[in-house]
Amino acid sequence: CGIVGYIGQDDTKEVLLNGLEKLEYRGYDSAGIATLNDTGVQVVKVKGRIAKLRESIDSSLRATMGIGHTRWATHGVPSEENAHPHQSVSGRFTLVHNGVIENYQELKENYLGNVRFVSETDTEVIVQLIEKLFAETNNTAAAFRKAMRLLKGSYAIGMIDHENKDTLYVAKNKSPLLVGLGNGFNVVASDAMATLKATDQYVEIHDQEVVLVHREYIEIHDLDGNSIMREPYTAQIDA
Ligand code: GLU
Repeated sequence: CGIVGYIGQDDTKEVLLNGLEKLEYRGYDSAGIATLNDTGVQVVKVKGRIAKLRESIDSSLRATMGIGHTRWATHGVPSEENAHPHQSVSGRFTLVHNGVIENYQELKENYLGNVRFVSETDTEVIVQLIEKLFAETNNTAAAFRKAMRLLKGSYAIGMIDHENKDTLYVAKNKSPLLVGLGNGFNVVASDAMATLKATDQYVEIHDQEVVLVHREYIEIHDLDGNSIMREPYTAQIDA
């Protein structure tokens, strides 16, 4: 299981697929990607190998931002429906997640009684919750942080808001996650293996932090919205 994300100038599907292949060693039962371009969000997901995912992606697809996921099922059987990315009811928010949300039943009952779920995953609760909180604030970053405050458990999360072509929303708690800094692009991954070809400059993300990843810079916040400054480090490349 692992996540990857890319926002930059180049076509994202190769970066995502290569990243997911590098994460294969972690084990998985399904995989998927979501990309955003002028025509909207495209989600492709499969039960099975990354090679199958690769074959399922239209080779003419062009997009300069996207997120990818390999799933190791914890809640809900391995299937195309339960594979990530998951989308909110309106389709506005699209999200990948590694980890386990321990209070997902409680969140479902307390906040999402009227939502029709399409998967059996704990993950879908996160994306529906963000949509629900967004309706109250009309501010994606604030809704994202508020949702993270309500989650109990482990997560590395990447999210796309289809109304914002300049930002990937990322968060971490007790699951690994790194942000890699490039020149005119930035990447996100569960481990540096997935992105070492793209950059050797990394910023460590701590538990209960969210990151707004843009093409030219990133913003790190705590869950109350306070800014956090952190210098990148240079990863040692042996390969
Ligand atoms: N708990 C989530 C699921 O079952 C994520 C699993 C993972 O980390 O791949 O879909």
